[in-house]
Parts: sequence; structure tokens; C-alpha cells
Amino acid sequence: MRIMTSCPSCSSEKVRRGGMAIWLTYVALIVLAIPAVLVFHLNAAIVALIMVAAVVMAHLIFNLRVCLDCGTQFKG
Ligand SMILES: [Zn+2]
Repeated sequence: MRIMTSCPSCSSEKVRRGGMAIWLTYVALIVLAIPAVLVFHLNAAIVALIMVAAVVMAHLIFNLRVCLDCGTQFKG
């Protein structure tokens, strides 16, 4: 198991978790959460908890990292 992850294309160690799939998940969650609270009157705290759980799940499922130097997205 590697502790430091480096970019496969430029070997930079300036990488962070993220990527387009994660951002699309965030956007989808926000789009779903607003009507859930406003229209269906779900408890905002419960919706927030579900969103946090979904974000954690998305990170585990996609497992994507982004290089801050060259922008490459890779599994890691
Ligand atoms: Zn890179």
C-alpha cells in the first residue's frame, strides 16, 4: 500500500481526491437535496446526513484522484 500517491503522467505528488465524477455527484446531491427539503419537507439534518454519506460512498466507488500540476485524473 502506497502512502504517497503520485501522478502517473508527470510524477507530481500534488494530487488530491476528486475528479469530474465526484463533482457531478455533488451537483446531483444538491439538486436532489433542495426539493427534498423545500417540497417534501424532509428534515434538513437527515438530508445533510444522507448527502455526507453519499459523498463518502462516491469517493469510495469512484476512487479518483486529480493531479494539481497537469490535471490528469486517475484511479488511486
Ligand atoms: Zn500530473
